[in-house]
Amino acid sequence: MRPLIRRGLFAGATVLAVAVVASQHLGSAQAYEQPADDSAPQTMEQLLTTVTKDVDTYWTSMFEDAGLSEPRVRYAWIPAGQAAASACDNGETMGDSAAAYCAADDTIYISEKFATDIYEGALDQALPGSSQGYGRTVGDFAVAYIVAHEYGHQIQDELGLYERYGNQLPTSAFELQADCYAGTWANSAYQDNRLEDGDVQEAIDAALAVGDFDASSPMHHGTPEQRAEAWNTGFESGDPGTCSDYLTAS
Ligand SMILES: [Zn+2]
Repeated sequence: MRPLIRRGLFAGATVLAVAVVASQHLGSAQAYEQPADDSAPQTMEQLLTTVTKDVDTYWTSMFEDAGLSEPRVRYAWIPAGQAAASACDNGETMGDSAAAYCAADDTIYISEKFATDIYEGALDQALPGSSQGYGRTVGDFAVAYIVAHEYGHQIQDELGLYERYGNQLPTSAFELQADCYAGTWANSAYQDNRLEDGDVQEAIDAALAVGDFDASSPMHHGTPEQRAEAWNTGFESGDPGTCSDYLTAS
């Protein structure tokens, strides 16, 4: 199988030799201490796990700096053609199109087929933004953007933001903040010299591609421009504090 991720992107990250078990707890620094070879992720499952651990390491450090306890989340990568039952929305089944954080069971669900389609640029005609000519989804950093966005929702849960603002603010406020959080993580990877040419563009293009135009829908996530702007705000500042604006400016 050809490498799914370009060598150098996560040069500091190593592929774990251990099997990845769905619903495994994150948050342990041990993830990076295990002996492993230094090859890049070879499968989508490995790429998703590598990025999630990278994002987890970033937020663990941010929380530590803020005197907060370590964030904890489970993740479940759903193999193509399979489904996972979640505690959200009356046990809604997460299938081949899943990319979600479910606060009720504190789990990030991502379909390996969905992530592979993103990686390969197969969804551009199906996504609201890209089907209208805004952005595109292709490449490892488009996948990384989605992982970091979903982890951003877990951060909102950890910080109690749903409880505090959930009744006052529209879905899009939380979505744009999660995009901004994805940007601050990407900034940390940039500071560590772990991004390659094109990665930033892949993330911005993906944010544009998943933006939608139905501002009257309660499920509106933000327009393509708003989503790309939110990611870029986080990326440029590298400061999660700047992402608070999305919850207060609405
Ligand atoms: Zn979201």
